[in-house]
Amino acid sequence: MTVKAYGAHAGDQPLVSLDITRRDVGAHDVQIDIAYCGVCHSDLHQVRGEWAGTLYPCVPGHEIVGRVVAVGAHVSRHKVGDLVGVGCMVDSCQGCADCEDGLEQYCDGMVGTYNGPTADAPGHTLGGYAQQIVVHERFVLRVRHAEDQLAAVAPLLCAGITTWSPLRHWNAGPGKRVGIVGIGGLGHMGIKLARALGAHVVAFTTSESKRQDALALGAHEVVVSRDPGAMAEQAKSLDLIVNTVAAPHDLDAFLNLLKRDGTMVLVGAPSTPHPSPQVFNLIMKRRALAGSMIGGIPETQEMLDFCAEHGIVADIEMIRADEINAAYERMLKGDVKYRFVIDSATLAG
Ligand code: NAP
Ligand code: ZN
Repeated sequence: MTVKAYGAHAGDQPLVSLDITRRDVGAHDVQIDIAYCGVCHSDLHQVRGEWAGTLYPCVPGHEIVGRVVAVGAHVSRHKVGDLVGVGCMVDSCQGCADCEDGLEQYCDGMVGTYNGPTADAPGHTLGGYAQQIVVHERFVLRVRHAEDQLAAVAPLLCAGITTWSPLRHWNAGPGKRVGIVGIGGLGHMGIKLARALGAHVVAFTTSESKRQDALALGAHEVVVSRDPGAMAEQAKSLDLIVNTVAAPHDLDAFLNLLKRDGTMVLVGAPSTPHPSPQVFNLIMKRRALAGSMIGGIPETQEMLDFCAEHGIVADIEMIRADEINAAYERMLKGDVKYRFVIDSATLAG
């Protein structure tokens, strides 16, 4: 079937309206009428060729929510009419240790929602800036929020799970002091989730103008990271830092804030490396520097259910599909409060 989408033909070209094909619904497939799709900074990195290996045409989008319109003969988890979500993955080998552990994001055969290998035309996956998508049922999540919250649920599928997974893995909760660095799409969800998990939350931003927002999002304290005095006050005080910054920067400034045995988890994925941190900053307090990628399907469902139960959604700005190029420019300036979401109804033109 042919559907309308938005994507780019080259890294230096703007996104434009495209017609793309979705495969016929297979026995284990779910066909979804996309209502909204969030705009992640990864979309921008990928479509502009900032990460190696972008295939064109590139249709980004991996924060997908919508309604099931058809299911294959063997689908048991979802039915027509269900509200569902799709995040950053649409398939994996489904047989390795990572898949069996529900950590499909680490499977060597993981297929990304866009730019992944597929037998479908044009030979790589095309993402959620589109009217519809067809996905294996295992990679389709149940949405239990009220339907009128659907647009603000979309960013949970990447920004939510990418901060939830390290917060859970490194045991953010009562008695823990957790830093969230970079208050963009991921960071604003990191604040909300760390707070809801019961941690003491310290937000770090380069933007003084985000101070009040960060407090309203749930931070107990806000530090403007350009202020050396304010940074020094946090020295050796944090158990965990989730660093979402999308550009290379001085990691030592944040490693210095960890307590003994504290961990800084990098989730931001800049296209060029950070300057290497000082080894002594790790050795002296047995600190750890780690990375984390999105989250597995079971933990994504756990996060969505937690958010539904606790009334948590993203703070969003809704855009039309034809506003996407301008939205990318604003995202680069850190000028999003705090996630753009495309209204898929505007793809029709
Ligand atoms: P975003 O909305 O653009 O937020 C990034 C924030 O980082 C900005 O709002 C800004 O916050 C801060 N920042 C500080 N200096 C910056 C600079 N020079 N350039 C850009 N940002 C700067 O991006 P996002 O969607 O949250 O994504 C953040 C990063 O995570 C991206 O690299 C993305 O590709 C990556 N990502 C990784 C995963 C994963 O699985 N690990 C998943 C999704 C996204 P302040 O104004 O508060 O300083
Ligand atoms: Zn993303």
